[in-house]
Amino acid sequence: MQKISLAIHGGAGTILKKDMTPELEQAYLQGLQHALTAGYALLEQGGSATDAVTLTVEILENNILFNAGCGSVFTKDGTHEMDAAIMSGSDLSAGAVAGISNIRNPITLATAIMRHSDHVFLSGKGAYDFAIKQGIATAPDDYFFSQFRYDQWMQIRNSDVYALDHSEEPELIVEVKNKKFGTVGAAACDRDGNIAAATSTGGMTNKKYGRIGDTPVIGAGTYANNSTCAISCTGHGELFIRAVAAYDVSCLMEYKGLSLQAAMQEVVNNKLVKIGGEGGMVGVDATGNVALLFNSEGMYRGAKSSDGTNFVRVYKDE
Ligand code: ASP
Repeated sequence: MQKISLAIHGGAGTILKKDMTPELEQAYLQGLQHALTAGYALLEQGGSATDAVTLTVEILENNILFNAGCGSVFTKDGTHEMDAAIMSGSDLSAGAVAGISNIRNPITLATAIMRHSDHVFLSGKGAYDFAIKQGIATAPDDYFFSQFRYDQWMQIRNSDVYALDHSEEPELIVEVKNKKFGTVGAAACDRDGNIAAATSTGGMTNKKYGRIGDTPVIGAGTYANNSTCAISCTGHGELFIRAVAAYDVSCLMEYKGLSLQAAMQEVVNNKLVKIGGEGGMVGVDATGNVALLFNSEGMYRGAKSSDGTNFVRVYKDE
């Protein structure tokens, strides 16, 4: 019988129990659980994998704890520029948006690009115009304000450094040790054996020059193909782009016959590690197997499947 499955993440990095209050840990776990439960319920009702990943990521975007949607980090100019992508494994259709501001749910826009445009990848003002035409909800700047992200930005705004999400000190920049990432994502397998992946992010604090990470780059941060896997990544985007990380998992399955778990293991714990690509990914295959791997200290994550799998976790070795 066809399994249905959903795997989610809310970012990876140096997430240590000693740095967490019990209240914050609970809030993260509840945020993950809420998204997981809602997305899985949709799959149970017969919803498609693409609808399930869209809904799941929208819920995570609406949670200020995560670096996506309303919780997005600040750019060098004090704005919020978000990236998102979705891909459907049944027909390889995809939609992506980069550098978008004032859109309440960037993943909703990416899904609209996939379904209602002749294109895959839109950016900036043109993407905003398309969103308005599609009747997609906008939000004022203050909707994206959070004190925590603002304080992060204030630490480095007068410098040229840019920081991965949750970095606590100004020196915690790209070459730093204490890295965390708050991007959100989901991968789902529905009861027809169709799979899909979706990812959304605010990117890096103090980013400039229109920097775009791996999240909206099909094949890097997001990829889905029914014959292999659906993958959503989180981590140091530049390295995930250079590794073509999500597609590499698919290639190892397609051309080398590796299982989802083995292929992900190779990419996350070997290929990415070799080039300094810290982070992780979640994925499903078309038989409903799930895999969640990371090479950092932790990853906000969860999975639920009709085979009885059901968990939300934060730290390594849980
Ligand atoms: N991958 C994202 C980026 O580089 C960051 C993250 O995962 O938190 O934009």
